[in-house]
Amino acid sequence: MPKIRTFEDLFVDELKDLYNAEQQLTRALPRMAKAATTPQLKKAIEEHLEVTREQVRRLEQVFEEIGAPAKGKTCQAMKGLIEEGQELVKEGMESEVLDAGIIGAAQRVEHYEIAGYGTVRAMAETLGHKRAVKLLDQTLKEEKAADEKLTRIAESIVNVRAVEVGASSEEEE
Ligand code: ZN
Ligand code: FE
Ligand code: FE
Ligand code: FE
Repeated sequence: MPKIRTFEDLFVDELKDLYNAEQQLTRALPRMAKAATTPQLKKAIEEHLEVTREQVRRLEQVFEEIGAPAKGKTCQAMKGLIEEGQELVKEGMESEVLDAGIIGAAQRVEHYEIAGYGTVRAMAETLGHKRAVKLLDQTLKEEKAADEKLTRIAESIVNVRAVEVGASSEEEE
C-alpha cells in the first residue's frame, strides 16, 4: 500500500514538508541577516528568525493535536530557494544591490510558505481539525506580514539606494 493513501495522510505529509522547510530556515536566516547591510533589512530578517523558531514549535503543536509524530521530510523546494540566495551572496556585488537581491530571495521563501500554509490550513478545515486551523492560520498571517514588510523595505529604502549604484560614477565621466 502507498505511504500516502488518505487525505489525512496527505495533510500530514504536507506538514512534514513545512516542518523541514522551517527548520532549514532557522539555519539559513542567520546567514542572510549577516549578508544584509541595510539595518532595517537586517533587523527584519533577525525578527523573522525569531518568528520562524516559534513557527517550528507551532507545527509541533499541530502534530501533537492530530496525533502524528513531529517528523520532517526534506523540502527540496526550500533547499533550492535557500541555495539561490547563497549563490547571490557569493556574486560579490555592491552591498546596496545585494540587499535588493536578498529581499528578492527572502520574498520567494515567504511566498512558498504562504502557498504551503494556505494549503494545510484549507486541508485542516476540511478534515475538521479546528485547533490546527487556528495554529496554521496564525503562521500564515505571519508569513504574509513578513512578505509585506519586505516589500515596504524594498520600495522605501533598499531599491532607492540600489538604483544609485553605478549611477553616480556615470555622472562623473
Ligand atoms: Zn516556512
Ligand atoms: Fe515560516
Ligand atoms: Fe516543500
Ligand atoms: Fe517566513
